[in-house]
Amino acid sequence: MIEGCCHCGAVRLTLPEPPQDLGSCNCSMCRRLGGLWGYYRPDQVDVADPETRLVGYVQGDATLTTWHCGRCGCTTHWSPRDPAYERMGVNLRLFDPVVWEPLPRRHIDGASW
Ligand SMILES: [Zn+2]
Repeated sequence: MIEGCCHCGAVRLTLPEPPQDLGSCNCSMCRRLGGLWGYYRPDQVDVADPETRLVGYVQGDATLTTWHCGRCGCTTHWSPRDPAYERMGVNLRLFDPVVWEPLPRRHIDGASW
């Protein structure tokens, strides 16, 4: 298990293991957020938000919600709006760099979709 949190510590995410690689996407949203995404099934990820600080932002095509901490502003993860879509993205930058710096990065050309 590996644990990460936003800067203020209000939101904590627990993963079963590091991802195989990291997605770095150039779409209009991701390039602004600077997230490095690790992909998981939603049932693999524990998102603890006891103070209910998470704020969601739904992008134009409304397929997913991007979440950030309402106190410190850190982007934590994105989740699918369709519960049948079994994939979510976790921002590995919230975790210890020892976990994610060695991982290969996959460039995702989201801007061309
Ligand atoms: Zn925070």
